Amino acid sequence: MDNISSTFRQAISTNLLTLTRFRDLLKKIKQNRPSEDLELLRRAYQFSARTHKRQVRLSGEPFLSHPLEVAHILADLRLDVPTIATALLHDVVEDTTVTLDEIRSQFGDEVAHLVEGVTKISKLEFASREERQAENMRKMLLAMVDDLRVIFVKLADRLHNMRTLRYLPSEKQQRVAQETLEIYAPLAHRMGMGKIRGELEDMAFAYIDPHAYQEIREEIEEKRRYSEDLLKEMASAIEQKLQENGLQARVEWRIKRLYSTYKKMKRQKEDLSQIYDLLAVRIITQSVNDCYAAMGVVHSVWSPVPGRIKDFIAMPRPNLYQSLHTTVIGKSGQPVEVQIRTEEMHRTAEEGIAAHWKYKEGGMYSAADEQSMAWLRQLVEWQQEMSDPTEFLSTLKIDLYPEEVYTFTPKGKVVVLPRDATPVDFAYAIHTEVGNTCTGAKVNGKLVPLRYRLRNGDIAEIATQKGGHPSRDWLTFVKSSRARNKIKHWINVTERASSIDLGRKLLEKESRRYNVSWGKVSAEELTKASQGMGYPHSDDLLSAVGFGKAPPRQVLAKLFPESVLEEKAGKKTLTQTVQKALGMTPGAALQVKGFHDLLVYRAKCCEPIRGEEVVGYITRGKGVAVHAKSCSNVQNLLYEPERRIEVEWVASPDDSYPVQLVLRSSDRPGLLKELTAAITERTNIRNIETRFAENGEATIDLTLDITDKKHLEKLVTAMRKIHGVRDVERIHKV
Ligand code: MN
Repeated sequence: MDNISSTFRQAISTNLLTLTRFRDLLKKIKQNRPSEDLELLRRAYQFSARTHKRQVRLSGEPFLSHPLEVAHILADLRLDVPTIATALLHDVVEDTTVTLDEIRSQFGDEVAHLVEGVTKISKLEFASREERQAENMRKMLLAMVDDLRVIFVKLADRLHNMRTLRYLPSEKQQRVAQETLEIYAPLAHRMGMGKIRGELEDMAFAYIDPHAYQEIREEIEEKRRYSEDLLKEMASAIEQKLQENGLQARVEWRIKRLYSTYKKMKRQKEDLSQIYDLLAVRIITQSVNDCYAAMGVVHSVWSPVPGRIKDFIAMPRPNLYQSLHTTVIGKSGQPVEVQIRTEEMHRTAEEGIAAHWKYKEGGMYSAADEQSMAWLRQLVEWQQEMSDPTEFLSTLKIDLYPEEVYTFTPKGKVVVLPRDATPVDFAYAIHTEVGNTCTGAKVNGKLVPLRYRLRNGDIAEIATQKGGHPSRDWLTFVKSSRARNKIKHWINVTERASSIDLGRKLLEKESRRYNVSWGKVSAEELTKASQGMGYPHSDDLLSAVGFGKAPPRQVLAKLFPESVLEEKAGKKTLTQTVQKALGMTPGAALQVKGFHDLLVYRAKCCEPIRGEEVVGYITRGKGVAVHAKSCSNVQNLLYEPERRIEVEWVASPDDSYPVQLVLRSSDRPGLLKELTAAITERTNIRNIETRFAENGEATIDLTLDITDKKHLEKLVTAMRKIHGVRDVERIHKV
């Protein structure tokens, strides 16, 4: 009986303890955000208390104390009720049998969405041995989050876990501390949350390098002993001087944190006495003007150290930290940094983006939040123009890395790919061989097509097959240049093999025509002739013939220098030979595919594009040239009608051709903008160059990706419609 009653008593006292802590939380929120609805919080607390009831932390405390403390950290940051409710519920989905649907039905979409975000991140293992991976991990974490409040909860969660890390087994301590130092502290820094970052770093430092931690701690403690008085004295002297000058301000002082001191010493290879900002006095003023006035007052009493005055008010740091810094020499000859800033800047320095997170009912923002939006833009390295930043913020939606997608191997390695990348891109990122032989893919355990678009957090698994090979088709959907290059390379190598074959056939044919004996040519002779023509191996020469780069007649002349290479009549067989070499059925039209098909190429003089009427012409050893019917050279070709061959465009094309245009216009403001807008709506611009003449005439050279004749015509029409444009003309290189 005694036992039961003691357990009972204990249960009641823990209940009371957490309940008191919860009441404190409500009080805090009422103070900071009087208009918030606390009913949601009460329900979240009760729900969390119920579901975590039997769970105990390694510290011996009831589990509930953890979400409660996380909630307190967020309440101190003055965050909104949904965020704090999320803190109370953040571990229920992961650690209990509660499902997200239950959370949604009880607390609504907003809270459920936030809890889901936190749960998703918690499942990831970020600790890694590689420096390079850490940055990717941080980015991925951000990419997986679509609401910044998820990160606030996660940081607060981590802060409390670090505060209670001593209860964990040492192996886990190491992992968590490393992850904190690599992922969460830099994240807090990025978000300008200086206070949380400092605490996270110092706590992690103690676990990761206890020796260095202890050493620097003792050094700083010693320094503190005789610096504290100096700082106090200076602070009150400054306070007095400011008052005499009619400036309202409060003055604080601080000694630099351990880990950031340690890092600075290591980075600059300096000892403690050379760290100028080890000791700092902070002046917190009422206005920006007062900051500069206060700096004047400080300098009238203490001389500044040259080169140490920094104006981060005019030029904020990337995380939007603002302050005036100056270093002065204190009484005992010690340098002391003086940091001067307004209340608002101070809060920003301590709380970062959270200080600006004034999410209000109705999603309204004051003009003062302009600054925080600018900050957010910088924070996320937002590269695309936002049409309306207010709207962007009010929806609370973020997409931090719009150009990248973060995926995992089954073993948990992060693979960063361009947005919309496919399993083929993923496969080539793993290894060229994996890419070349990939036949299928699984994403998150499910089979997907190779052109599937990967999403953040996807775990991809590639199936390969020995002897498998890339398909030309892949070029139409891969997104990474690595995959594209590797596929092209493979195709080139394969084409080389067939070009060698083709070159040999062409030489056989030509030798019959010139009545010399190809069969008598030895390997040595061929190699010698090749080298004489600048090709290291005979295969290089054969391939060159096959690709149409080396005329067969020239090769034969090298091999049979004594023969007079007189052409025998072979008019009819020429077309047939080419058709045979290209594996065509006799009489069929030659199909013209892309830009640089083997042995079939678009003539440089007219560069026909799909949709134009074309004529094929068998050149002497250069393959089949395809001309536009309108090309002036075609007239000349008619002299040798036996060299004509029927050609047609391949039915369903995906490729495009670069087409050069020259556009003439009168120069006027906005012309280029309108022009590029008109074009980019319809295609890619490969190159654009503008020249201005003195008479106000603009000549614009353009290279555009064009799929066919119709496409080109539409573009030209659109360009001609632009005010000021007088003339658009297609030009050719030759
Ligand atoms: Mn937690």
